[in-house]
Amino acid sequence: MDARAPANLTWHEGRVTREERWRALGCRGGTVWLTGLSGSGKSTIAAALEAELVRRGISAYRLDGDNIRHGLNRDLGFSAADRAENIRRIAEVARLLAEAGCIVIASFISPYRTDREAARRLHAEAGLTFIEVFIDAPTALCEQRDPKGLYRKARAGELAAFTGIDAPYEPPINPDLVLRTAELPVEASVERLLDRLRKAGLVQAAAP
Ligand code: ADP
Repeated sequence: MDARAPANLTWHEGRVTREERWRALGCRGGTVWLTGLSGSGKSTIAAALEAELVRRGISAYRLDGDNIRHGLNRDLGFSAADRAENIRRIAEVARLLAEAGCIVIASFISPYRTDREAARRLHAEAGLTFIEVFIDAPTALCEQRDPKGLYRKARAGELAAFTGIDAPYEPPINPDLVLRTAELPVEASVERLLDRLRKAGLVQAAAP
């Protein structure tokens, strides 16, 4: 049990083990965590991977930065503390969905190493696969793409603490996969992710 959990709470075991659930449902859960600058391609790649997995009949679900900030994390801002809490909650949700048998595709800037490491630890403690993927693109290219006009706003001083401009981004030191989107088309990124998922045993070797 979590040492931080309040007293008088009891963890209730269900009647179904993870293996029983996954076997009965024909699935295997785990989390693919995409990290990178705004505009690096996380959401685009996440949506393409999700579509490909679902096309193959695999339960996959995206957790995406802006979407989560509309609901679950609408009370959080962009200070380092709020960013840490943002990632902590998302990691907990990812773990629950993975436990339920989903391949979770989390796409968040998640600029701090310690926050991403905490997300990995949370999965490791639960014996769940966690694949950290660095969506790597130079800041200049992200700024040129600027799909949401955020770099323009940040440069104009209308947006404070924007990652890559006036807030830090800490690249992963030892990611499970690096996708350089300056060179790699979206479909090739999806292929590499599928390869990685096969290696992790979350996707069958042969496409149906
Ligand atoms: P993020 O989620 O990291 O903020 P988005 O996926 O929203 O990034 O935006 C990336 C932009 O870059 C999109 O407009 C996408 O079409 C474009 N893009 C161009 N080439 C690529 C590529 N090879 N991989 C991913 N995105 C690309």
